[in-house]
Amino acid sequence: MTVLATALAGASDTRALEAGVGVLSRTGAVFTETFGDSSAQLVADGTTWAVAGEEVSASLRAAGVSLAPPLVLPATPTVYASYENVSLIREHLRGSDAVPVVVGSGTLNDLVKLASGELGREYLVVGTAASMDGYAAYGASITKDGFKITQYCPAPAAVVADVSVMADAPQRLTATGLGDLIEKVPAGADWMIADALGVEPIDRGVWDLVQGPLRASLADPAGLAAGDLAAVGRLAEGLLMSGLAMQAHQSSRPASGAGHQFSHLWEMEGLGRDAEPPLSHGMKVGLGTIAMCALYEVVLRRDLGALDVDAAVAAWPTWEQMASRIRGAGLPPEVEVAALAQSEAKYVPASALRSRLTDMVSLWPTLAPLLRAQLLPAADIESRLATVGAVTHPAQIGLDLDRFRTTYWRALTIRSRYTLLDLLLEAGLLSSCVDELFAPGGFWGQRPWPGVAG
Ligand SMILES: [Zn+2]
Repeated sequence: MTVLATALAGASDTRALEAGVGVLSRTGAVFTETFGDSSAQLVADGTTWAVAGEEVSASLRAAGVSLAPPLVLPATPTVYASYENVSLIREHLRGSDAVPVVVGSGTLNDLVKLASGELGREYLVVGTAASMDGYAAYGASITKDGFKITQYCPAPAAVVADVSVMADAPQRLTATGLGDLIEKVPAGADWMIADALGVEPIDRGVWDLVQGPLRASLADPAGLAAGDLAAVGRLAEGLLMSGLAMQAHQSSRPASGAGHQFSHLWEMEGLGRDAEPPLSHGMKVGLGTIAMCALYEVVLRRDLGALDVDAAVAAWPTWEQMASRIRGAGLPPEVEVAALAQSEAKYVPASALRSRLTDMVSLWPTLAPLLRAQLLPAADIESRLATVGAVTHPAQIGLDLDRFRTTYWRALTIRSRYTLLDLLLEAGLLSSCVDELFAPGGFWGQRPWPGVAG
């Protein structure tokens, strides 16, 4: 994993990273190299403790690290990413100056990341599943007052990722990791569009960290489903690289495009929150990835170089008209407030739109083949996700046709980040492209909802 060393050099928070088969026993050495002679406070839940708790403790003890009694949360029900749990962990940590060592991925890591951040304390994560890119990233996704938000907090100072532990994790966790990672394909295309139009330039070094290893990380879904060490190792590497790239860029842009916005909107609306276990981030992101790759296919069958710019500019709403559309989008009240602010931040008046669309018309013949080379077919994404047992159809997570269909428009309102959705909205093409997806021969038209006539 030599590429990880390059990524580590650019990371703002993470100073040590040990990834590979059997590296759990290196935890003690990583800890003392990073934190000197500090003591350690282990945090786990019943499940992750059973998987790796004793071995991590033994490794720390062997390195001469003194250990506070571990904080082990119950295994069931699944530990929830709530602010109450952050407070519980933070108050426990406050009792000493020990460095937190969290054994877990996903929610547990987010809880300890935010609790440590609030105490101004560094921490170490021992990742137990290749389930998300967040274990090497800053920020934690936490529900506070019933509203899921990403709260800023530093990334872990040290990361241990034992691929043999990750390969033994439940398959749904690997599936959610693949869902989170595969979105980097259309997210890259979104960034290419934003770059070409001068909205947000690509940082080539950071781009390479994510996109360089990406295809190899996604290449073997059957191996992932079988818990193959090489396949899981490559997935873990891709996820770690994405986290480190976000640190280097101080933004999630390198690892998150419109497919993530689908997931964020559903998270804000509480989709699957009460399921046991709760519907994971990566399952929703994977579905958002299929949705966006299908939309890219519709767009790339058209010639945007032939766009009627005058007509698009004439049809462009004023900000007041746009704001009233957003108010009519059926968003929960607190999401609507955020959506208005995010959308206003990226709104351009008609004169600026004219120059942007004029640029797009001249750039399209060059840009379209580059987008084609970046993307994967939606059916290919769908098949890889199906192979690992991930979500591939909205009905599997209780989304009805209308709610899913309108996500193509509502998702773009919640984030100021410029993606294909924004380009299509500005060009006046979003509705017709989405209509094509749901028409009888379109991607979603061929995948009817149960009980809905195809
Ligand atoms: Zn993600």
